[in-house]
Amino acid sequence: MNYILFRNCPYCGNNNANTQPTEFGNGSWTIKACSSCNFVYIETTPVYESLSEDLAWEKTSVAEKARKVSKEPIRQFISEQLKTFRRSFLKRNKLPELIQKYFAKGNVLDIGCAGGGLLANLDQIHIPHGIEISKNLALQANEQVKLRGGYVVHNDALSGLKELPSNYLSGVILSAFLEHEINPREVLKEIYRTLTPSGSCIIKVPNFASINRLVRGKKWCGFRLPDHVNYFTPTNLVGMCQGVGFHIRQFKFSDRLPISDNMWIVVQKLK
Ligand SMILES: [Zn+2]
Repeated sequence: MNYILFRNCPYCGNNNANTQPTEFGNGSWTIKACSSCNFVYIETTPVYESLSEDLAWEKTSVAEKARKVSKEPIRQFISEQLKTFRRSFLKRNKLPELIQKYFAKGNVLDIGCAGGGLLANLDQIHIPHGIEISKNLALQANEQVKLRGGYVVHNDALSGLKELPSNYLSGVILSAFLEHEINPREVLKEIYRTLTPSGSCIIKVPNFASINRLVRGKKWCGFRLPDHVNYFTPTNLVGMCQGVGFHIRQFKFSDRLPISDNMWIVVQKLK
């Protein structure tokens, strides 16, 4: 791939060009732990333009699953079973519940909305909006939402957010998105700007501090190269959100269970 971008630490801005890579990368992609703040991230990433077509999610996720299955069929089978179990018994309706609890009536934005499945199922009090970097998925999602007065922007998150007015959104959904974002802090800042006073943002990301990651090391399912460019822990997720002005609305122990590969947080714009 020709289109790569060097990144300073997305948490603190430190240049880690001279920092030794972690063991978590592979021959093509280097994962660094910042020498200043310890944030873990991919140092050179594909630029947005290449994500739009070459590495679009619907293609890479299929390839990644096939790769895992062929490498470790039994482990992958067990992992899928566990996932199904957790989905059916533990975390059912987590996102819809959080939306219902924290999003007021008005415009709701799903960043990285894929084909618009989630947006199509939002309650009628919400006007669905999306941003999606994959052209095909953006078109598909737009079909889903335009009848309800919303629209889907085909763009990267940062550029898409900049098209939106300030104080416009009552809620923003970042579900399995922020780990993919090259500029996570800037995206959170733009979300803060576009939210109405007291508007909320729900974030779901893989938990780098999970037990599964510690046990499985380099084979942890959260490592997806080069798709996942940021590796958050509960501490630095809170730190980044607070750093752009957000108030932490909900981050209970059950939202960041060490036995889960993922964590959830709800942050709110202060009035
Ligand atoms: Zn740093």
